[in-house]
Amino acid sequence: MKQMLSLLILACIGTGLTSFAGAQARPFPGPDVQQIYQRLLPQIEKIPAFDHHAHPGFSDDPDVDAMAAPPDASEALRTRDDNPELIAAAKALFGYPYTDLSPEHAKWLVAKKAELKKQYPGTAYFNMILDKINTESSVANRAVMPDYLDPQRFPWVFFADSFMWPFNNERETARNPDEGVYIPLQEKMLRRWMQQENVSKLPAKFGDYLEFIVRVLADNRKKGGIAMKFEVAYFRPTTFSDPTREQADDIYQHYAAGGVPSEKDYRTFQDYIFRFLVNLGGRLSFPVHIHTAVGIGDYFNLSQSNIMNLESVLRDPRYRSTTFVMIHGGYPLEREAVWLAAMKNVYLDSSFGELAQYPAAFKDTLKMWLETFPDKITFGTDCFPYNEVLGAEESYWLGAESSRTALAAALAEMISENEITETRALELAHGYLHDNAVKLYGDKVH
Ligand SMILES: [Zn+2]
Repeated sequence: MKQMLSLLILACIGTGLTSFAGAQARPFPGPDVQQIYQRLLPQIEKIPAFDHHAHPGFSDDPDVDAMAAPPDASEALRTRDDNPELIAAAKALFGYPYTDLSPEHAKWLVAKKAELKKQYPGTAYFNMILDKINTESSVANRAVMPDYLDPQRFPWVFFADSFMWPFNNERETARNPDEGVYIPLQEKMLRRWMQQENVSKLPAKFGDYLEFIVRVLADNRKKGGIAMKFEVAYFRPTTFSDPTREQADDIYQHYAAGGVPSEKDYRTFQDYIFRFLVNLGGRLSFPVHIHTAVGIGDYFNLSQSNIMNLESVLRDPRYRSTTFVMIHGGYPLEREAVWLAAMKNVYLDSSFGELAQYPAAFKDTLKMWLETFPDKITFGTDCFPYNEVLGAEESYWLGAESSRTALAAALAEMISENEITETRALELAHGYLHDNAVKLYGDKVH
């Protein structure tokens, strides 16, 4: 290795080579960076994408998420409906003829979408939206799948948190106004799983409760589910202890038929169920998606949901066969987070990062990730139907366009700084936008 390097250095000196081909990386991009960016961008726009994290649906559909935004949650600058970029989205997707989104003009947009829904009935409407943004397939992380999404192009990622809240949740619901919205929705989700399995009340025995969880997962696979998702950071700290089955069994026996568990008992029980599900993810080949970023609402606790809390679970050899996807890449701790991807079974998804940051800043995140573990990072938009004007359609567009432009900019700098060749840059672009994620699901997605 050392010998090869010396030969290379000698060769470079010998030919007076100062540009790429073995030259040392330099700390600033050269004056060619804009030109490289302009050359790369159209090629990157042509790569069909796999969106690894999204919540497609219409704004009046109650099943998009297994939770809901608390009332009056603050919106960051870019997801407010007065973001001028939404005009560009409306123009690109729907031929919007105006230069503002005044309430009067927004009516045109709402009418146009209604007209297109008639023109593209059933699953055709959202397929048409994916075609417009050159996305081949998009994960649908939803409570349940609607009949208006084509399962061939929208593989389902279901929510697994509700199994952790089977008892009397009075204390949990009363903790703060946000939990007052979230916890009843977890109860609703659990009731749905019970209906799905024809279970009318909580089983008396803990073993039967675990068996019920296994049945839900197996049936969700039959319904097209490809992964399970946790948004547990919204409901409790993400530090998980390691209780024994006997401890969890005792707590279950105590509260399955009624009674409000102490916070300590409930947490211990949840810690066991979380680990049980993570383990099942390995056994049944369901990658485990975990929300790892800031969250909406006034009471989302940033320090207690720090992505590094999960390190002891991720690096536990008992879960080596479980594939973990760190949804939102730990934002704003994405620098620490990328080193978790050193684990063979841990991946980072960039969704939401591209909305929380403008492309000028998101480019730096992507560049740092591409320079570290480029084959462990995946693209996602975190699209969501915020309202009738800022729909899933516009947020798909904003997420995809922001990611593609930031990707082209990050790679252009890396080429200009002599880090990689242009050929390698395009390979990395294919990996991030499509191939890295698709590989996780075998023949279940494309
Ligand atoms: Zn999401």
